Amino acid sequence: MLFWSIEVPYLCVPEIFLDANATTPVLPEISQIVQRLCCNQFGNPSSSHLAGMMPKQIIAEARNAAAQLFRVADGRFIFNSGATEGINTAVLSVLAPYAGKAQEDTVLLYGATEHKAVPEALKHWNQVLGVKAKLLEIPTATNGALNIEFIKAHASKALMLCTMGANNETGVVQDLAAIANAIGGKDKKVPWLVDSVQVLGKVALNLGELPIDYATFSAHKLYGPKGTGCLFIRHGAPYTPLQQGGGQEHGERGGTENVAGIAALARIFDWLIHPQNSPLHSMETLSAYREQLLNALKKLFPELVLNQPYPESLPTTINFSVPGFHSGQIIAMFDAAGIRVSAGSACSKGRPQSFVLKAMGLPSWQCEGAIRLSFGPASSAEFIQMAATRINAMADRKQASEQGRVSGLWIPEPFDVGFAAYADETEKTLYWVGDSEKVKAWLNARFPSNDWCYTNLAPGSYEFGSYQFNVDSAETFRVMHQGTKRTLTLNDKGVALSDSNHTRIETIGPDEVALGNHFLIDVREPLETCMQAAPNFSGEALISERADWCRLALELTNSEIGLPMVAICRSGGRSTTVAALIAALGGPTVLSCDGGVTDVVHLLAAKESVI
Ligand code: PLP
Repeated sequence: MLFWSIEVPYLCVPEIFLDANATTPVLPEISQIVQRLCCNQFGNPSSSHLAGMMPKQIIAEARNAAAQLFRVADGRFIFNSGATEGINTAVLSVLAPYAGKAQEDTVLLYGATEHKAVPEALKHWNQVLGVKAKLLEIPTATNGALNIEFIKAHASKALMLCTMGANNETGVVQDLAAIANAIGGKDKKVPWLVDSVQVLGKVALNLGELPIDYATFSAHKLYGPKGTGCLFIRHGAPYTPLQQGGGQEHGERGGTENVAGIAALARIFDWLIHPQNSPLHSMETLSAYREQLLNALKKLFPELVLNQPYPESLPTTINFSVPGFHSGQIIAMFDAAGIRVSAGSACSKGRPQSFVLKAMGLPSWQCEGAIRLSFGPASSAEFIQMAATRINAMADRKQASEQGRVSGLWIPEPFDVGFAAYADETEKTLYWVGDSEKVKAWLNARFPSNDWCYTNLAPGSYEFGSYQFNVDSAETFRVMHQGTKRTLTLNDKGVALSDSNHTRIETIGPDEVALGNHFLIDVREPLETCMQAAPNFSGEALISERADWCRLALELTNSEIGLPMVAICRSGGRSTTVAALIAALGGPTVLSCDGGVTDVVHLLAAKESVI
């Protein structure tokens, strides 16, 4: 069997999860509590027999712990399924008294960088209840701070004010005391919701001092299970239950309580009340960890730009962009190296753009390229060191991969931009045709204008190496390989491939690929291939980055390979495109792997039982 000769452990790296602002793992101490309450003390707190006593007691203690932690004297906590439910409950509570009574001259004020749950809940309940208030976004400065003057100017017309403690993408911490002052302090009129999800465990929140009416919390952001949270409600603030039922939570939230989740939350509160007995680290330690990771990131990308005020933001969050890269490329690179980070952006049409960074007025390249790297407050020094070491190793591999092929045909964005170039390394000349503006960043990185002479091709016919360029105009041109006689036609939008080209391509699963009976053509980007090699079943796997796909489609023959060929990428999208491009030009049959290199590597590893 071929696969036994492959060094799988080298290809297979343990996962490093650096996306704690999205969620955190349940820590063993918490999972033991959850297990005990699910398996042993599983009684229903509403039961009047003895089995209900312990769960009832646990809920009461959790409520007391919440009050103690947040220094609450005049309010209460309701346990629920998390922050989204808390936000909806708060909005419903404020708007329900206006149901059916249109309030056209009023506004619902919310921060432009809120989590989507806030504007969506406002929109939903405003419409369902027929309140007809206007939704009004509070603008932010470039450092993410809400415009306090704007809040001051609109508070008197606001039915509700929604702000957040800290932002999930950027870690920007809002000045809640300044907001409180802007709306009149303790004498304020407008009901105020603070989404406190990201401050829990990172920034102290004093609900005894601040005139906040509603505050939402979620356990899974601080090592608790998903689907558990709580809502703080100030005494006297309007309240309408989101769900009615058997009278649980003093009639304020129907439904049998998630006792295991509440007990987990109680333990988290207890850690925060007694930090000396907790696995959570101090802000100083976390800030030093962040600095350590940032230094490693700067080695990987010396030109990175931070999209957050530093060091003033949450000490567990780094948000950065790198000129010349969009976030998908960087995530793919980290993913291949076994590090999970996120774009911190919602996917809209075209390239994903972070609405949070857009609201902060950052340039669009930063919004398109944003990467969020976040770790939990219980991260150990060893974990941070391991992450920094892995990122440093990525930097070394990236540097080594930058010394690849230079001469020959290059078409950097084959399906988006009409641009082709032929590089002659001995003459240090790049002959090009098409729209160079749209591929400027790629050109600068690959062929720096200080070292290379750029020559634009006017209409006509040219020969470079084995290639013939036929230029009809700057928008339409053909490239022919003189050996295979295959021709590629480009217009101003690049190569036209119809969907039917893709649907005719035969796919193959990673399990079949893992049998090792195919020749692999790895069509991921250099940033990915240098982080995780594809298994080499028969000599070297052929590597072809996007800018090289057209050359591959023009030149590829199977005469020497002798095995069926499979294109492989991260998840099966790019591999189908490349196989379709090769087929469209009349090249040899290439199958597309409908999984990715990581799937194949893990299947091989499972066979060797190394993971
Ligand atoms: N608010 C913020 C700032 C968040 O980060 C999240 C989590 O993604 C939520 C609200 C929603 O929380 P939950 O998952 O508990 O509904």
